[in-house]
Amino acid sequence: ATPLALIRGGGEAARHGILMRSGDAFQVYRDVDTIVLDKTGTITEGEPAVDTVVGIGDHAEVDVLRTAASAEAFSEHPLADAILDHADERDVSFPDPAVFESVTGKGVRATVDGEDVLVGKPDWLVEEGVDLRAGGGVIEDPQSRGLTTIGVVTNGDLVGLVGIGDEIKADAWDTIQRITDAGIDPVMITGDNERTAHAVADEVGIGRVLAEVLPDEKRDEIRRLQDEEGECVAMVGDGINDAPALTQADIGIAIGAGTDIAIESAGIVLMGDRLGGVMDAYEIAQTSYEKTR
Ligand code: ADP
Ligand code: MG
Repeated sequence: ATPLALIRGGGEAARHGILMRSGDAFQVYRDVDTIVLDKTGTITEGEPAVDTVVGIGDHAEVDVLRTAASAEAFSEHPLADAILDHADERDVSFPDPAVFESVTGKGVRATVDGEDVLVGKPDWLVEEGVDLRAGGGVIEDPQSRGLTTIGVVTNGDLVGLVGIGDEIKADAWDTIQRITDAGIDPVMITGDNERTAHAVADEVGIGRVLAEVLPDEKRDEIRRLQDEEGECVAMVGDGINDAPALTQADIGIAIGAGTDIAIESAGIVLMGDRLGGVMDAYEIAQTSYEKTR
């Protein structure tokens, strides 16, 4: 039989926009000692916008923006949308790419005006043989400001970069405090680079960061925390990328409108965008569940 206390907790949770997708979700959630939070869309608003465009050497800023927008024209990544929106706002027109390939968790490869173009994260560009030193350290500055920094390469040369910001949620700092006050370790996980990730983590008070994690490695990181560190892990995320990690975690929490696939993979669903819902649910779980047998 379902414990009455659990049903009562479910009612209170629902009033707070918290849905349990499995009967024992709160029971498991009570026992977590680590909460892993995805960066984009969980800690941040998930509405990336271009903050800065830089041309390197004699490459003009608008040309860098034009090339980046062309290469990203067919991409469905939120970072691509940010670049296209920015080009539109500045009335920079751009051609469709002749060839386009999306490289998951890394960037895009395209042919634009007969040139080979790469637009993506710096460590991927290095893997592709691009010498980033040509930029003279220009990439580190936006990264230290917490911007996701995307290099723009034509025919093997770094010609510029795009720094993309994403507002941190208003209640993020507070929520991280609530997590640590409850004796739980907050951990941030992201595909973004170390420097950007640490800048964001510092702003919200998170000390432990798993950065440069490819989409299909997020699950492995959760499993490692469980198996090697013996942690009972909650994972909070919103994206398609997060679904395997939500499933792997002892308790998966989908936040915001979330993608259907994230919701399917979660034990707890938070209807709103507020990060605080994570701890509202935890506090309700603490008080509502009573062992009846
Ligand atoms: P997250 O874990 O933050 O949700 P992803 O795993 O989708 O992000 O991507 C990780 C990183 O790869 C991004 O921060 C970005 O640097 C780079 N990247 C991925 N897709 C693109 C793209 N279409 N254009 C440029 N960069 C991209
Ligand atoms: Mg994400």
